[in-house]
Amino acid sequence: MTVIELLRTTLAGMNLTAIDARLETLLENASKKEPSYADFLLEVMSAEADARKQRYVKTRLQLAHLPYVKTFSQFDFGFQPSIDERQIRELRTLRFIHEASNVILLGPPGVGKTHLAVALAETAIQAGQAAYFITAHDLVTDLGRAYREGRLDRRLRIYVAPKVLIIDEMGYLPLDDLGATIFFQLVSARYERGSIILTSNKSYGEWGSIFGDPIIATAILDRLLHHSSTVNIRGESYRLKERRKAGLVPLPEQQQSEVPASTAARGKRNHSA
Ligand code: ADP
Ligand code: MG
Repeated sequence: MTVIELLRTTLAGMNLTAIDARLETLLENASKKEPSYADFLLEVMSAEADARKQRYVKTRLQLAHLPYVKTFSQFDFGFQPSIDERQIRELRTLRFIHEASNVILLGPPGVGKTHLAVALAETAIQAGQAAYFITAHDLVTDLGRAYREGRLDRRLRIYVAPKVLIIDEMGYLPLDDLGATIFFQLVSARYERGSIILTSNKSYGEWGSIFGDPIIATAILDRLLHHSSTVNIRGESYRLKERRKAGLVPLPEQQQSEVPASTAARGKRNHSA
C-alpha cells in the first residue's frame, strides 16, 4: 500500500470525508506553497471543520421548520423606518438567547414580522443554537390533540427543548379555553429557560380578545414580557408595495382588501411548505 492509499483508508476509517475529498488539492497546494507544518495541519483540519459546520447548520435549518429562509441582509430597513436598527443590532448579538429573554414582533400584516423572526432564527442556528418554528394555530392544535390523548406533558417537551421557539401569527385566530390554558403552560415552562420569538398583529391591549379571558391573558403577558424586547412595526405592507409597483393595486379602495389578500398569500405559503 502506498502512503496515499494508507492515508485514504485512515481518513475513511475516521470518517474524515471532507479531508478525503480535498486530499489531492491539499497536498498539491502544500508542495507548491510550502507552508509551515502547523499551517498545513490547520488547513487540513479546517477543511473538515468547515464541512462539518455546514452540514450541521443545514440539518438544524431543516429541523427548525422555517416557512422560508430569509436573512437580515435581505431586509430593507429603509422601507420600515419605525424599526429601531440599534435594537435589531442588539438582538443580532443573540444576547437575548443567553438570557432566555423573549422577542415580540408586533405590527399589521406584511410589515416583515415573520421575515425578522426567521432571520433571527437563522442567526441563532449559524451560532450553533437549535430553533423551532410553528404558527400559534398549529401549536395549539397539536398540543390540544396531545392533551385529549393524555400525553400533553411529553408533547410539551418538544416545544420546550429548543433554545429558541418561534411562535408565528399569534392572534389571527382567537384561542378557546383549552388553547389559552395550554399556551399558558408552554409560556410558563419556557419562562427563564428558553427564548420565545413571537409575532402578532394584535397590540398588547388586544390580547384579552385573543384568549377570551383577560385574567389568563394577563398571566401569559406577565411571564412573556418579564424578560423581553418588543419590536413594534408601524408601517406599510411590503407585499402591498410590491403589488402596487406591479400595478396590481391602482385604487385606494382596493388597498382596504389587504387583510383578506394577505391571508390568501399565507395560505398559499403554508401549502407549499
Ligand atoms: P408579516 O409581518 O405579515 O409576517 P412577512 O415577514 O411575511 O410579513 O413579509 C411579507 C413578505 O415581504 C415576505 O416575503 C418578506 O420577506 C417581505 N418583506 C417584508 N418586509 C420587508 C422589508 N422591509 N425588506 C425586504 N423584504 C420584506
Ligand atoms: Mg407573518
